[in-house]
Amino acid sequence: MTDATPPAAVSPEDGGTAFAITLMEHLVVPTFVLDAELRVLIWNRACEHLTGVPASEVIGTREHWRAFYESPRPCLADLVAEGAKGRIEQLYVRPEAPREPGRGLRAETWCHMPRRGQSLYLAVDAGPIFDAGGRLIAVVETLRDMSDRKRAEDQLQQLASRDLLTGLGNRHAFDAALELEWRSGERDETSLALLLIDIDHFKRFNDRYGHAAGDECLKRVAATINRFARRAGDLAVRYGSEAFVLLLPDFTRTQAQAVAQRVCDAVRSLRFVDDDEIIGVTVSIGLAVCVPMPGIEATLMLQAADAALDEAKQAGRDRVRIGEV
Ligand code: GH3
Ligand code: MG
Repeated sequence: MTDATPPAAVSPEDGGTAFAITLMEHLVVPTFVLDAELRVLIWNRACEHLTGVPASEVIGTREHWRAFYESPRPCLADLVAEGAKGRIEQLYVRPEAPREPGRGLRAETWCHMPRRGQSLYLAVDAGPIFDAGGRLIAVVETLRDMSDRKRAEDQLQQLASRDLLTGLGNRHAFDAALELEWRSGERDETSLALLLIDIDHFKRFNDRYGHAAGDECLKRVAATINRFARRAGDLAVRYGSEAFVLLLPDFTRTQAQAVAQRVCDAVRSLRFVDDDEIIGVTVSIGLAVCVPMPGIEATLMLQAADAALDEAKQAGRDRVRIGEV
């Protein structure tokens, strides 16, 4: 704590309230206090520093939201004061239920701090203060700037779900997307298409042209497949070493078959140059299409696509086969 000595005129003995106010003013933790009418009672220096809004602008007003948001919305302290805890889920991320009834709330959110012209990810605690009769007299809100940690977490999350070579999502990203699309297909009764795409004779390609050429081939095939993920819910991922999945929600069997054939054709038309040799590659595709239903596991689609891919390989490669789910 810096500069925390209260002025000589105020001490715990001669003025409890004044002392508490002075103490809060000097707290290094950004803090503000609302009275029971949601008017700002205290706006400490750390809060001024964090928000760029001086105490003189907000004390006595109900305008504290302006320090954090562009348009009016409740802060966590308002939810505590109004007993509107149900709204926390809509307004915040990672809300935590109070550990004891009548205690405060804890949550996190991105704030677009209008005065600072910058976004901060804030962890917020808001706790009620009651008088001896149990009547709410104030709510204290404290704020912690977690922006750096949140950005680092988001980057790690991105890395954990990306394939570094091709830049596509990885199997982890696919598993999450399949669960999500399966549930929304079940709800909307729309069919979901899954294309399991595997490069043909890729071992031979690697052996003949080298690992670096193999990597280049993987990147170009990945980019080609990704071009077919056109709509918001479509997803192309690197599923394994030289296998990719294209997940297409709300696609009929006929549409999916047409896309699968176009993927096959697009990969076949790629050209790689090694010294003077012009090389091509092909893919085999196992396709599964179904309307998700309760009681059926999403992984059944993968099994069906995998069996269809085996058939495509056995039938001579460079082709599409459809599996039955
Ligand atoms: P099939 O037509 O039956 O699919 O045969 P295939 O040769 O494509 O399949 P196989 O599973 O025998 O070989 C896959 C090869 O992919 C073996 C491995 O060396 C290569 N591979 C896996 N990951 C990478 C990678 O990141 N880079 C490169 N260059 N090669 C990789
Ligand atoms: Mg292969």
